Amino acid sequence: MPGFEALGIDVGSTTVKIVGLDDEGNITWHLLEEAEPWIESQVVRFLDEAKKVNGPLDGVPLVATGYGRGLVNQASRQVTEITCHARGIYRELGHGGTLVDIGGQDSKVIRISQEGKVVDFAMNDKCAAGTGRFLENTARRLKVSIDNIGEEALSVSEEVTISSTCTVFAESEVISLIARGVPVAPILRGLHRSMLQRIVAMIHTVGLVPPLMLSGGVVQNPAVCWMLEDETGVKPILPCHPQLTGAYGAALLALGISSQEPSFT
Ligand code: ADP
Repeated sequence: MPGFEALGIDVGSTTVKIVGLDDEGNITWHLLEEAEPWIESQVVRFLDEAKKVNGPLDGVPLVATGYGRGLVNQASRQVTEITCHARGIYRELGHGGTLVDIGGQDSKVIRISQEGKVVDFAMNDKCAAGTGRFLENTARRLKVSIDNIGEEALSVSEEVTISSTCTVFAESEVISLIARGVPVAPILRGLHRSMLQRIVAMIHTVGLVPPLMLSGGVVQNPAVCWMLEDETGVKPILPCHPQLTGAYGAALLALGISSQEPSFT
């Protein structure tokens, strides 16, 4: 069974991800689950799962990131998502550029230098527009699964303009469009556009220095990638596991921590 030398955990607002690395920084194990309201007990369970794979975790450093990182008392260190996402993407792709991370309830744009340093960033964690939540809520209204919304949106070339950027008002707008007999796919396309225009505004704030790199669960949606290219004119690059980028970066930082530092059991 694969063991690991370091662990990174990303306690996001929607999902919790943990990654184990070998001594060369390769991912040997990971786990991803929806975030539960009782984060501390979920973290204990994740670490119990890690022990099943690795045996005792004495001396294995753990770095925590994400919105709930402060609740991970077992961590050797807690580090911001900005630093961890930048670290993870730079290690995997090997170059700087502009990283767009779209999570369940927040989104961020991070400009990374060719040396891997964070040059500038912008973050939206105040409003559901421009996050996965916007698409999830409206997809639920349309009875379309989150795994299919992207393909369905791309299945047509017509696009309905959604004028509401607010998630709550967009839901009402969707309901009235359906009541008027407008088909689902063009509405989905318009919803993606509305969500991504919020992201593109953030990209312009930080400045788009290509390549455009993506992370977060939402970028697994093909319409998100297609529309980002359509809006910016730059083809985005994805890591192998975009939803694990933050946890991967945290684990890489943990790998840099001396084994003399406090461990956890
Ligand atoms: P966070 O770190 O903020 O908890 P994640 O980066 O884990 O968020 O992303 C969670 C979001 O990703 C959710 O909004 C979910 O709907 C979306 N998501 C996950 N998988 C897919 C997929 N295959 N297609 C589209 N969206 C997805």
